[in-house]
Amino acid sequence: MKIHVERDLCIGAASCIAVAPDVYELDDENKAIIKNPKGADDQTLLDSAKACPTQAIIVLDDNGNQVYPEKK
Ligand code: SF4
Repeated sequence: MKIHVERDLCIGAASCIAVAPDVYELDDENKAIIKNPKGADDQTLLDSAKACPTQAIIVLDDNGNQVYPEKK
């Protein structure tokens, strides 16, 4: 799985960091950046995206299909 942070949506809540501290960190604008995309297993990556209050974390499968947030 691949993850991507929509900077415009990120409010710096750091919930993602609480779930996957090896994957994300906050930059000097208090936005999450990905420091290590392989810092957690797929389930933890998904959980970190679900923990984000603004759904700023987009999860894609290996084929580039969006897994989370679910497309309506
Ligand atoms: S949980 Fe969402 S809003 Fe909070 S820091 Fe992570 S990406 Fe940003």
